[in-house]
Amino acid sequence: MPFTPFHMGPALAIKAVAGRHFSVLVFGIAQVAMDIEPLVGMIRGAEVLHGWSHSYVGATAIGLLVMLLAPPICLPILRRWNHELRHHGAAWLSSPERIGLRESATGAFVGTYSHVVLDSIMHSDITPFAPWSSANGLQSLMSINALHTACIVTGLAGIAGWFILALWRKRKQRQN
Ligand SMILES: [Zn+2]
Repeated sequence: MPFTPFHMGPALAIKAVAGRHFSVLVFGIAQVAMDIEPLVGMIRGAEVLHGWSHSYVGATAIGLLVMLLAPPICLPILRRWNHELRHHGAAWLSSPERIGLRESATGAFVGTYSHVVLDSIMHSDITPFAPWSSANGLQSLMSINALHTACIVTGLAGIAGWFILALWRKRKQRQN
């Protein structure tokens, strides 16, 4: 299945913990990049939708490309996001307007690898350990409903955590 918002859930939780060491925007670009192959496959009516891109080798190659190419795409989005926050009097929620190589790398690789893990549970045509093995140890580890619920819960917990941390930082700044 091409990109679902469910993939973003765990990213929001990681963001709450890792803060500026992890770019959610780059993670988002990684999700879109990962699902180009299934999308093209769907349009063409291909038999296997989750081919080379949904293996750990493919995810490494895509992660590398995303790490290098995503920051210039993400920066205008980040600036717009900060602008909107300032406009609505919520500048304390804004993020620094730069994406360094480290946060781009964590966003990109956590993005592509977690995508393979989640899709391994969901899809039967995926071979995550190709070209060495056609096994997929994770399929049917849990029901799709349970997986989606887990993604929603981690996403909501992440948003709550991120919000609370920003509030805490704001208070601390006032005290200093
Ligand atoms: Zn996918």
